[in-house]
Amino acid sequence: MPGLVIVGAQWGDEGKGKVTDLLAERASMIVRFQGGNNAGHTIVRDGEQFKFHLIPSGILHPDKTCVIGNGVVLDPRVLWEEISGLRRRGVDVAGLRISANAHLIMPYHVLLDTAGEAKLGKLSIGTTRRGIGPCYADKASRLGIRVQDMLDEKILRKKIMAALEPKQQALRELSVRRRKLRRETPEEMPDGPDPRLDLHAMTEEYVSYGHRLEPYIADTARLCWEQLDADRTVIFEGAQATMLDLDHGTYPFVTSSNPVAGAACVGAGVGPGDIDEVWGVVKAYQTRVGSGPFPTELEDETGAMMVERGDEFGTTTGRQRRTGWLDLVALRYAARLNKMDALVITKLDVLAGIHPLRAAVRYRSSEGAVFEEFPYHQSILHSATAEYEELPGFDAELGDCRSEADLPPEARDYLRFVSDYVGVPIRMVSVGPDRDQVVWMGEKPALRAA
Ligand code: GDP
Repeated sequence: MPGLVIVGAQWGDEGKGKVTDLLAERASMIVRFQGGNNAGHTIVRDGEQFKFHLIPSGILHPDKTCVIGNGVVLDPRVLWEEISGLRRRGVDVAGLRISANAHLIMPYHVLLDTAGEAKLGKLSIGTTRRGIGPCYADKASRLGIRVQDMLDEKILRKKIMAALEPKQQALRELSVRRRKLRRETPEEMPDGPDPRLDLHAMTEEYVSYGHRLEPYIADTARLCWEQLDADRTVIFEGAQATMLDLDHGTYPFVTSSNPVAGAACVGAGVGPGDIDEVWGVVKAYQTRVGSGPFPTELEDETGAMMVERGDEFGTTTGRQRRTGWLDLVALRYAARLNKMDALVITKLDVLAGIHPLRAAVRYRSSEGAVFEEFPYHQSILHSATAEYEELPGFDAELGDCRSEADLPPEARDYLRFVSDYVGVPIRMVSVGPDRDQVVWMGEKPALRAA
């Protein structure tokens, strides 16, 4: 199984980091193919917590190559902080490689993201305000600045100038606001133009990051081909998730890239024939961060219990996640869209003590129409209510379960129901944050490392 894609099957935060980290042990390369530092994976190793925003989860394995692919947008300051933080904790980052073609998040992207969200007011998307959306927009407009540009000061300066030009209007509005703020709180707002937008300073800063990151910059697509052609396992690690996909998710409440499995090819530079398996990571219930439709949302005690037991706060922003019942209508859609070969169910332990368990098997529109398939029309989805299948719950704490037989019969029935409904086998179940808290269902996959 040389090419394995791991994708989030819901609205993110499913625990992809833990799954990737576990499988990475038996792979030789791990590649992130989209998104930016709006993603966040938390991995717990021997009780020690690691949070990653940009670097692939496999970095904790010193002998693996971890690639930030061309499909990622990266903020060099954030990446540098992440590299330095890991080094301070004794993690060897020598295996990191960054695609020379990945696009850079610039200070003006961050400013425009924040200003854009503020302008939308109540209609805001709920972005993380890290500049990801404006960076992808520049990429599509052919105004993007790439990792390789940091290695050539002259080109970098020219490209920044070209990129800034069409943003003058929006940036002028920002500077008017800044002047107003300065009048209101002069002590907090220094005099003069916004230093973050100074062409000279920006160029210098990015050239300096270029020097620091140069040892890691590479032709990463070629590195992937070398591994795949030698029949070694490459894991393509998705960030965010299917229902946040720019094309297939709940637009406009989506991310600005494509987290679906198909995007692994574009974002890493490999062909569809290089992908052998797709695994979808699914939380045993449903969560969502930010705005957008969520037909199975719970705003009651059960939802609060899921937040508390599941520690449902974002890795990157710390925002509390919205919680609800597992949505099988959306999951079946995600399974087909990604052509999933296997499911990994995470956080099953969180459901202990909830009676009964529910899983959405259809939606009903405000006009009473029944939808067994995920509706393409946003108006239906926004007003849809979910209808449920009820299953008996379980009380036992699952943290110590290590085999299918250790799981209570009700938990096994719940898993079977999910797998049958979606039509995809479950290969692994996670029963706690630590890496050994897993139950393999059937055979462990035969991955080939270097
Ligand atoms: P990702 O972005 O999909 O990797 O997900 P996050 O890392 O943002 O969120 C998943 C959170 O759940 C992390 O804090 C994990 O440590 C934790 N986690 C992962 N698997 C399990 C599990 O099976 N049970 C519990 N209770 N926590 C888990």
